[in-house]
Amino acid sequence: MVSTPAPALDNSGRQYLPTLDPATASPNQVLMPLTARANAQNHLEIGGCDVTTLVERFGSPLYILDEETLRTACRQYREAFRQYYPGESLVIYASKAWNCLAVCAVVDSEELGLDVVSGGELYTALKAGVSPDKIYLHGNNKSVEELSLAVSAGCTIVVDNWQELKTLVSLAADSETSETAGGQPIRILLRLTPGIECHTHEYIRTGHLDSKFGFDPEQLDEVFAYVSQQPALLCVGLHAHIGSQIFELQAHQDLTSVMVQWLSKAAQYGLPISELDIGGGLGIRYTESDDPPSIDEWVKVICEGIIRACQRQGVAMPRLIAEPGRSLIGSACVTAYRVGGQKTVPGIRTYVTVDGGMSDNPRPITYQSVYRAVVANKLSAPMTESVAIAGKHCESGDIVIKDAKLPPTEPGDVLVVMGTGAYNYSMASNYNRLPRPAAVLVNQGDASLILQRETVEDLIRQDRLPERLVRREG
Ligand SMILES: *Cc1c(COP(=O)(O)O)cnc(C)c1O
Repeated sequence: MVSTPAPALDNSGRQYLPTLDPATASPNQVLMPLTARANAQNHLEIGGCDVTTLVERFGSPLYILDEETLRTACRQYREAFRQYYPGESLVIYASKAWNCLAVCAVVDSEELGLDVVSGGELYTALKAGVSPDKIYLHGNNKSVEELSLAVSAGCTIVVDNWQELKTLVSLAADSETSETAGGQPIRILLRLTPGIECHTHEYIRTGHLDSKFGFDPEQLDEVFAYVSQQPALLCVGLHAHIGSQIFELQAHQDLTSVMVQWLSKAAQYGLPISELDIGGGLGIRYTESDDPPSIDEWVKVICEGIIRACQRQGVAMPRLIAEPGRSLIGSACVTAYRVGGQKTVPGIRTYVTVDGGMSDNPRPITYQSVYRAVVANKLSAPMTESVAIAGKHCESGDIVIKDAKLPPTEPGDVLVVMGTGAYNYSMASNYNRLPRPAAVLVNQGDASLILQRETVEDLIRQDRLPERLVRREG
């Protein structure tokens, strides 16, 4: 395995800027977006935009998404499959990492497909113009409405369980009189639980047998037998996903041979199964100590594993699908906050506060995730302080970074947390009635607003005040 130097602090201990060649760096291995640099004022610049100026213009907190990093990750996945896999392949973006119109559109323009896990994500993808034949609907409890929307649009359904199979059969039966499936059989994949353990946080592990997701492989014969008897269902493939933020290649290599075994069984039932979707899960570098394999290395292991297993088992090579989320978008975004005050507990810790926290990034409080930060307007200042960066929410656990190395800060400084592209905006909440931040897409000096900042009016938009509670004057 090629080992890549960590883009950590430079010799003077000053910055986390990429030290890898942006032309060849794997975006999941850099702490900062590929276009990050220090400009003439020693301010952090991303996508040709001064981050401090962006905050003056768009306010804070602000998600800053670097288009070049996102596009580079898309291309590296696509090109690696083209290089290592002789058959057909498709990369689909697991859009739950960050689903909004602009992100769907960028990914779509890179010829990736999209995986969605709810009617809301599906609606957004369709509105962004993503072609339904490249959309895959996931979920362990899809509603009838979600299924009908996906089926009538012509998406592929990744079926999770028996209940869903039966719902689809009855939807199809209804559609003989209505228009739901347009008379076409419903294109499905079957999701199976591979029983593969991997080392990641318990909440984001999905492939072990005791999981709420997918069919138990013990039932494979029964499921295949049932599906082969349903003319309304066109079962084209099998799916598995073993978890997220995974650094070992072994787990995915094991998965390839397990899945090809399933594939060989499908033939016995006369099922036209020609797709294998191996899920996502490749990790990214959040701190200097994280050392994920590159996108290229990950794809290579998957492709070689599938090719080898197919040869060994005498199975035709399937159309190969992967659905990365985090490793496509995680490193492409940073979150910029304004620094508030400080609180020093003598001999214990100094807290530096920022104007956001668990509502815009719930990962630290949910998964104990660790991040790195810089002060965008003081890039050249040595990092001499060890502080905790505290959010503004009414939870003691609302700490963005427990042990951050920073230069001395003052109120108004722009603090930038790196690696916030995945599962930040998409998990954001209005806790404490904080409006959710704006997001800008930056590219070559241009900054386009892609998510408008919520206002206090937005916060009460869905509120209803019963007539009898309306306070009348006098
Ligand atoms: C979350 C998820 C993914 C993407 O996982 P990442 O770790 O973000 O790459 C892919 N497939 C399924 C089914 C998922 O649930």
